[in-house]
Amino acid sequence: MTPEQQQIRDLAREFAENELRPHAEAWDREGELPRDVVAKLGELGFLGMLIPEEHDGLGLDTTSYLIALEEIARGDASVAVAMSVHNSLPTQMILAHGTGAQKERWLRPMARGELLGAFSLSEPDSGSDAASMAAQARKVDGGWVLNGAKAWVTNGGFGDVTVTMVRTDTPDDRRGAKGIGAFIVPTDAEGYIVGKKEDKMGQRASETVGVAFREMFVPDDQLLGEPGQGFIYALQGLNGGRLGIGALAIGIAQAALEHSLAYAAERKQFGTAIRDFQGMQFKLANMATRIEAARALLHRAGEAKETGEKAVQLASMAKLFASETAMYVTTEAVQVFGGYGYMKEYPVERLFRDAKVTEIYEGTSEIQRTVIARELYR
Ligand SMILES: Cc1cc2nc3c(=O)[nH]c(=O)nc-3n(C[C@H](O)[C@H](O)[C@H](O)COP(=O)(O)OP(=O)(O)OC[C@H]3O[C@@H](n4cnc5c(N)ncnc54)[C@H](O)[C@@H]3O)c2cc1C
Repeated sequence: MTPEQQQIRDLAREFAENELRPHAEAWDREGELPRDVVAKLGELGFLGMLIPEEHDGLGLDTTSYLIALEEIARGDASVAVAMSVHNSLPTQMILAHGTGAQKERWLRPMARGELLGAFSLSEPDSGSDAASMAAQARKVDGGWVLNGAKAWVTNGGFGDVTVTMVRTDTPDDRRGAKGIGAFIVPTDAEGYIVGKKEDKMGQRASETVGVAFREMFVPDDQLLGEPGQGFIYALQGLNGGRLGIGALAIGIAQAALEHSLAYAAERKQFGTAIRDFQGMQFKLANMATRIEAARALLHRAGEAKETGEKAVQLASMAKLFASETAMYVTTEAVQVFGGYGYMKEYPVERLFRDAKVTEIYEGTSEIQRTVIARELYR
């Protein structure tokens, strides 16, 4: 780590230790995240990490961002996913494809943390096969009218602005993945209807909602780039998003390891601390080794994002390996805690639940393997 990266890690760690970890259990129970947590993330610059300084961001490199995100996830995975979606997807898509005016209007306040971003691709009937979406935009004078339904939008009501993918082709001229546009939609737009908040297994404080569009007018100046390119922009965004989810997964795993090390040193059976048993030592060693390997691969993928070389393949590998590591480590952590690990009173129970979704969102593990195999033959 460079001295600057160490400073960022320390800042994120201190914030997570003092302001997130002590509340994580209550936020999980209540299924709510206080809005002032997002404001604090913004004040510390954590919502503009990858946005250049000319747009009020910090203009940091990808690895610095991943280091900070891991620390935030070590404190609370629900806060980390809100931060990851905002930094990796809508802001990066506007930065890459937005006009000067769009960057001025949307990106600048997003970088300062005044507007929280969301990304809306999935629909009830199209998840992994997102290009088969049905939500439709109809061209009218001065803009587009959107109708349809989106599923599982992180920050979809809690956030302020979402980059939303909908069909821009017409029912009698379907163009598949090339018939989809990306629109910048504020969540208070007329016709933007926030549905029920999902009652989830883990990352419960992060808001996940269905959203419906009913005759929602979106002016031309809120279309991002070309009308048929939105799906390509979304996939490009997801390459960065997958790194964010990798960092988040490692943060969960690291927290589970730390709790396990402390518990194994404290808990006594057969007259000695359980850390003295080789069966426990092997578990702890495997957990720590997998975390180090996942982190090394993630940072390698972060560097590849900067250079472009094997960036897609490495992003999928890093997300796949980190999320499966989080699931492995948290499962072992529950085992180290024995019966107490199964109880909500102890943090490893929550970490185990928080880990699972990292294998599902922003491309399931099966989809990551499909991408990796495709890239190997490229
Ligand atoms: C908590 C949470 C937050 C989310 N946040 C967002 C968000 O902010 N924005 C957004 O757009 N989406 C979001 N999603 C949606 C998420 O990205 C999808 O759930 C995910 O892409 C999988 O889609 P699906 O659930 O429809 O599963 P499906 O695609 O129906 O898959 C079901 C199973 O089939 C497998 N499968 C599917 N296709 C293949 C294949 N070709 N080869 C092998 N196996 C396959 C899958 O891996 C999976 O195991 C979120 C989901 C969750 C749970």
